[in-house]
Amino acid sequence: MSINSKHNKPDVLVIGGGNAALCAALMAREAGSTVLILEAAPKEWRGGNSIHTRNIRSMHNAPEDVLMEAYPEEEYWQDVIKVTGGLTDERLARFVIRASSNCRDWMQSHGVRFQAPLSGTLNLSRTNAFFMGGGKALINAYFRSAEKLGIEIRYNSPVDSLEIVDGQFVAANVGGERIEAKTCVMAAGGFESNREWLKEAWGVNQWGEAPADNFLIRGTRFNNGVLLKQLIDMGADSVSDATQAHMVAIDARAPLYDGGICTRIDCVSFGIVVNKFAQRFSDEGEDFWPKRYAFWGRLVAQQQGQIGYSIIDSKVLGRFMPPVFPGEKADTIEELAVKLGLDPEALKETIRVYNSACRVGTFDHTIMDDCHTEGITPEKTHWAIPIDTGPFYGYTVRPGVTFTYLGLKTDESTAVHFNGKPSENLFVAGEMMAGNVLGKGYAAGIGMAIGTAFGRAAGVSAAKAALHQEEQVSATT
Ligand SMILES: Cc1cc2nc3c(=O)[nH]c(=O)nc-3n(C[C@H](O)[C@H](O)[C@H](O)COP(=O)(O)OP(=O)(O)OC[C@H]3O[C@@H](n4cnc5c(N)ncnc54)[C@H](O)[C@@H]3O)c2cc1C
Repeated sequence: MSINSKHNKPDVLVIGGGNAALCAALMAREAGSTVLILEAAPKEWRGGNSIHTRNIRSMHNAPEDVLMEAYPEEEYWQDVIKVTGGLTDERLARFVIRASSNCRDWMQSHGVRFQAPLSGTLNLSRTNAFFMGGGKALINAYFRSAEKLGIEIRYNSPVDSLEIVDGQFVAANVGGERIEAKTCVMAAGGFESNREWLKEAWGVNQWGEAPADNFLIRGTRFNNGVLLKQLIDMGADSVSDATQAHMVAIDARAPLYDGGICTRIDCVSFGIVVNKFAQRFSDEGEDFWPKRYAFWGRLVAQQQGQIGYSIIDSKVLGRFMPPVFPGEKADTIEELAVKLGLDPEALKETIRVYNSACRVGTFDHTIMDDCHTEGITPEKTHWAIPIDTGPFYGYTVRPGVTFTYLGLKTDESTAVHFNGKPSENLFVAGEMMAGNVLGKGYAAGIGMAIGTAFGRAAGVSAAKAALHQEEQVSATT
């Protein structure tokens, strides 16, 4: 029997069907609430960006099941400061970090399984717990658990508007249907799938181009930010800005949506990246790849034509996770340039200058090694070895948007704030508020850490608020 017909309105309405939404729904149900989930996608596409994930960044003070050594709070926090350049809320970042240390048992109790990490440039065995079967298996496990616990789930249910009165949630509208609930958790993702909004945010660059025309979306097509926009227009407090996002340089041949992780090009730190004029434009060896990969989409987006070319030689093959589709291969740099559509003389000269600037020490991609360049701009500060051993390989890359950071301001209660005042019954989790922790930049696995911490907390807050409403009603009747 459906919750709505039984109780007229559910205690907790959860909008979204990804990790943050499911964490909220399960926690609210465990706290005794009736819960209704509205997922925009059809069942076969349920789960948003969360289905594409592989791992969660997890604090631990000693080796724990699949996690090696220790990754203490302070080191995690320093990583957050470094990747965000300090654009973060320390209290909320530490809230996420601490919550990441004790969520795995709960996840396992709902059917999530972990596995030993993969090897490769994403050197994450110490810091990140990998999901067995990836995010798709995690989401399927959560939905199975939700069904078992009697949570009502409606697919093909994009909420198109919300009724909010004095900062309090009243109802959500899906098509012509009005759905009331005592409380609501918003977990409907960012606005990364909304190409018009991306275009508006990125505007026109100095060459008269609209950069967002060349963006690809790495995940779901359902996160269009309709409710985020509406809430901000209604006066909800926001964080970060509309151009900030997790953006990866991905294979230019990737589909417009849902290319997932197999379109990522992971060889950047092993070679050089040039723009359409065959010129380098950033330090390819600045830091370990898990702390840099999410910057490269933005760097490519800032180049003319929003296109880049990642170039390596045969020496580094086998040291990174190979892209699913082979790149261009050639015995000479000139031939490679022609295949990539670059000026052969310009590319040859860029590589000649780079090669002669390399100061090779002991190459080791597992540490921040001493191989660096001297006398060129931009410099390459680690893993700088000459590109001199054919055959040579090149991959054309485009900006791939993973998720946007403009979000709703919140605190540990997860309440949406209106003019600094927390709503009593409207809560937020996941990408819709990730900008509180990530003002910019990214470290692999933080998205799921934020969604899990805030999703679980939002479920508890919503359940409490629903109970409080009930108590108030019975006190007055
Ligand atoms: C390719 C890829 C790989 C990634 N890998 C990792 C990883 O390994 N580790 C990590 O930590 N992070 C990773 N991320 C980031 C991660 O996916 C997100 O941080 C996280 O999944 C966000 O969870 P969420 O629940 O907030 O959003 P989502 O999982 O995107 O869920 C949003 C949900 O809201 C629904 N929705 C949207 N609008 C509406 C509406 N109006 N009404 C109803 N429903 C709506 C959507 O259909 C969707 O179900 C990856 C992302 C991508 C794209």
